[in-house]
Parts: sequence; structure tokens; C-alpha cells
Amino acid sequence: MTNKLLAIKKREQFIEEKGIIYLDNVSKVYSKGSPAINGMTLGIGKGEFVFIVGDSGSGKSTLIRLLLRELVASSGSVHVMGSDLAKLRHRQVPRFRRNLGVVFQDFRLLNDRNVYENVAFAQRIIEVPAKDIRRNVPSILATVGLAGKYKAKTNQLSGGEQQRVALARALVNKPSILLADEPTGNLDPKNSWEIMTLLEEINQSGTTVVVVTHNREIVNAMHKRVVTMKKGVIISDEEGGEYIDED
Ligand code: ADP
Ligand code: MG
Repeated sequence: MTNKLLAIKKREQFIEEKGIIYLDNVSKVYSKGSPAINGMTLGIGKGEFVFIVGDSGSGKSTLIRLLLRELVASSGSVHVMGSDLAKLRHRQVPRFRRNLGVVFQDFRLLNDRNVYENVAFAQRIIEVPAKDIRRNVPSILATVGLAGKYKAKTNQLSGGEQQRVALARALVNKPSILLADEPTGNLDPKNSWEIMTLLEEINQSGTTVVVVTHNREIVNAMHKRVVTMKKGVIISDEEGGEYIDED
């Protein structure tokens, strides 16, 4: 078999058998300027824990938004959980997103509602029966260490607690994949560690976890797969990798 055929076969095997995420020569060009992602090929298997690191502007958030299907690739293809995202119809997108949990640096909570309501909201959107919501929400809040805080308004919580609420909301629908874009960017070292430890536990229970971060200390201590991006390309992809110094 030629190298090219071999590569195609490998790619198809990955998509079908193991890969929960596969980007095949993906570029993303915003309306003006050079590509934010430039010919990126990346596979992430079911159950992996992957850090995405790189300078600001290297395309990390663009990658996350492509995986969420908030953006569509300019060229190449993005496969997530067996779907080619460019072929997904608009009305299929909500169902696709049910299997993805996502957290951001700035939490993005509903600040006029309490902790319980923020998490329950995610279940109501997908029409989970009320009696199941009453069981699922306390259970996931206990998992993230917020068992006693149901009634607190989210703007009365510390940053670390707010991120736990966001995490509970991301997880309550039991997604296959959790995407986190700089989840500890607004947290102190202690809370950062607690959130990363929770992400690791979530991964150990079977969820595929992809974490964009600038936290060098945590990346170096956790010995996970580390994908380093620079100017829209992958410059390093190491199992048990370290945060690469740019200078
Ligand atoms: P990172 O998350 O690694 O900091 P981004 O994916 O946010 O990088 O950005 C990658 C590049 O794309 C940057 O040059 C940025 O300015 C550009 N970019 C990001 N979002 C947009 C947008 N909505 N419109 C135009 N350019 C964008
Ligand atoms: Mg970013």
C-alpha cells in the first residue's frame, strides 16, 4: 500500500474505532487576516486527557470553537463522535452538543439565579423529567464539592466555587467529552489545583477531557498528553509532556 493509502486507512480506522475527535488537515481563516488554524491534523481517543498549550493567539480557542461547532472549518474536516461537523445540519447541532460539556475562563453563569437553578437549567433545556432533575442536580453538585451551596446566588460565591458550578452544569447531562478553555485562568493556585484535580477525576470516570491552559506548573506536574500550538499549527505533541518554553 502506498503511504498515502496507508494514511487514509489509518485515519478511517481512527475515526471509526477509537477516535472521538479527529481533525483532518483543518484550517480556519476568519474573514480578515492569516489562518487562526493552519493545516492541523489531530486525533484524540476516547477516554484521553489532553492539555492544549501555546502562546496567546496560537489558535487554541478557535480549536475549541471548531469542536463545539460554533465555527465551521474553512478547509479540512472535523469529526467529533462519529459526525463530520461540516455535514451536520443546523437542526442537528443541539443534539450534537448534548454530548459535549464546556467550561470557560469567565464561568458564564446566570448570576441572577442560584447554584441549583444554574445546573438544573442545563437539564431543562434537554427536557429531562423533573423528578430526574431533582436527583441528578444534587448528585453532580456533591461530585464537585458544592453539596451545601444549592441556594447561594452565584455572584456570592468565590471564583473557585463559581467554576465548580460551571463544571457541574457542564457535566450534569453526562457528556462524552468535556472541553475546558483556560478553566483556571481566573483562579488562584489552590483553586486551580482543585479544579484540575476534579477534571482528572472526571476523566478517570470515562469522560474524554480536553483542557486549554497556560498553567505551566500544573501541566508539568500532571504528566498528561500535551499538544503545543504555535501560530495555528501543532509544534509538539507528547505523552507525559511538559509545558514548552518559547524562548
Ligand atoms: P488563543 O485562544 O490561542 O489565544 P485564538 O484562537 O483566540 O487563540 O486566536 C487565534 C487567532 O485568530 C488570533 O490571531 C486572533 O486574533 C484571531 N481571531 C480569534 N477570533 C477571531 C474572530 N472572531 N475574528 C477574527 N479573528 C479572530
Ligand atoms: Mg483563547
